[in-house]
Amino acid sequence: MEHEPQAQNTLAGGSEKRRRPRYPGTHPRQFEQRYKELDPEAHPEIQEHVRAQGRTPAGTHVPVLLNEVMDSLAPAPGEIVADCTVGYGGHAVEFLRRIAPNGRLIGFDVDPVAIEKARARLARVGGSFSLHRGNYAGIGKLLASERLAGYDIIFADLGVSSMQIDDPARGFSYKHDGPLDMRMDARIRSTAADLLATLSFEQLSSALAVLGDEPDHERIARRIVQQRASHPIARTSDLVRLILDAKGLARRAWRQPAVSGAGGIHPAALTFQALRILVNDELAALSQLLRMAPYCLRTGGRIGIISFHSGEDRLVKHAFKDGLRAGVYAAVCEEVVRPSPQELRANPRSAPAKFRWARKPHSEH
Ligand code: SAH
Repeated sequence: MEHEPQAQNTLAGGSEKRRRPRYPGTHPRQFEQRYKELDPEAHPEIQEHVRAQGRTPAGTHVPVLLNEVMDSLAPAPGEIVADCTVGYGGHAVEFLRRIAPNGRLIGFDVDPVAIEKARARLARVGGSFSLHRGNYAGIGKLLASERLAGYDIIFADLGVSSMQIDDPARGFSYKHDGPLDMRMDARIRSTAADLLATLSFEQLSSALAVLGDEPDHERIARRIVQQRASHPIARTSDLVRLILDAKGLARRAWRQPAVSGAGGIHPAALTFQALRILVNDELAALSQLLRMAPYCLRTGGRIGIISFHSGEDRLVKHAFKDGLRAGVYAAVCEEVVRPSPQELRANPRSAPAKFRWARKPHSEH
């Protein structure tokens, strides 16, 4: 759980002055060229400009369902909050403000880049917080090491951040060429490329079906097994090409709205999502969190989870409903909470988000 110092990968910082990266035309296109977006401190006006276009500035993340989360979980002064997925700190900053002056925020993230960015943002808010590079499945152990009786709020905003998706070097995006890595935590052994090289046809096909809801899971899995016999599938662009071939789509066809289908989802999106969940063993961590949460919450404590995929939402919904039936929780949300039309317009990336919450009884029986 110890934080390990890690070299920053942004263009900002460092003592030597760097020249502005050169790019053709009037606007930067590549992630690395967006040096103004990557350094929000130096160029705050660029952040607003990019957000007004419904885009996420490079190297940042726009928090989803922020008001809904705060309204439902109602953080109060003096409370102890665990933000399991601190990311860029969007929710954490708001929690920290609301639990001031005597509250305490404990944040987790497996990604050291996220921890460093969030640390800088939280430090500007002030108040008591500690950030831990580690899997949120360890929230129980942390209570013991920090000598706390329990959390008042446990919050998780699952999946990857825009910071991770938009950086081509991380390999999460079908939009940019990069190595097929997809590890949120560099300590994980197998990258997406490793899994594509070693899993059987059955394993691949079922992962795409279960974790991606990909209707063409068999065809894509068969292609992977065929192709890897002659060429390793090592780059995001290799995988995108393979998926388009397996679906019988022309290489550039997905750019046309008619082919992208309802909601404009890219033909490779579901496969990329399934691989990412598999590489990072995301459902196992979520199941562990849901199992541990009732023991880690104080009386009257609340848990809230934002998920972006039907498999995750199903786990959350059942854990809360079962908890209600067993008397572990006193109340759970009746309906799933979704982004408002305004939020969808301002941040289209919020579209798949689903939020659910549960509350423990105010007194133990
Ligand atoms: N709420 C944040 C965004 C969170 S994005 C904000 O508004 O800024 C999700 C983050 O969770 C990512 O940074 C990812 O690295 C992290 N993450 C995903 N699974 C995790 C796990 N099992 N344990 C800890 N962190 C995890």
